[in-house]
Amino acid sequence: MPPAVARLPRSSAGRPVPGNITWYERDDDGAILVTRDTELGGHITCPCTPGTGTPRFGEQCPQRQRTFMAQRQCGLCTENIEPTAELVFIGETNAPYYLEPPLHPLCAAYALQVCPVLHAGGQRIEVALTHSYTLAEDRITGISADGTLRRSVFALGDPVARHLAVLQFYLAFPDTPERLTAPNWLAQRAPKLLP
Ligand SMILES: [Zn+2]
Ligand SMILES: [Zn+2]
Repeated sequence: MPPAVARLPRSSAGRPVPGNITWYERDDDGAILVTRDTELGGHITCPCTPGTGTPRFGEQCPQRQRTFMAQRQCGLCTENIEPTAELVFIGETNAPYYLEPPLHPLCAAYALQVCPVLHAGGQRIEVALTHSYTLAEDRITGISADGTLRRSVFALGDPVARHLAVLQFYLAFPDTPERLTAPNWLAQRAPKLLP
């Protein structure tokens, strides 16, 4: 386990909880909180605190997701990724963009080996290696009659989108990524975790 991962708060099962995961406190009713400012326009906030309450694996905290994406922080261990360093996105084959923040190579190697969902994905899971990425905005534009949220992708800082839609997440489009299946990357290229 990378040292920065070992310092993360743990789930009740003793598993380190990735920095981008949402935590729920007992009295949290799950309401979506929307606020507005001049920089982001309408946007979703989240008051959750890592280590307080119960983590919900698979659900990203919109506020930390946006911070990690914008600040080039690792979605697992939360530490900065050096400006010139290679970073890793994990997703489905040929994903055009990623909703999960970038990872340190060591953190990506760890996640692929211990996360049951990623592990079960096998050859369908791909890593995109890059040194940089471009952000876009995933905004909620409305709600359908059946209650599902409608969403659209906007360029980062789009001044019209700020007025029309509510920002939830940033999307990362990797610049000229090198793509490998996760098993191949782990076997051939990934940094090795010490036993
Ligand atoms: Zn949160
Ligand atoms: Zn990391």
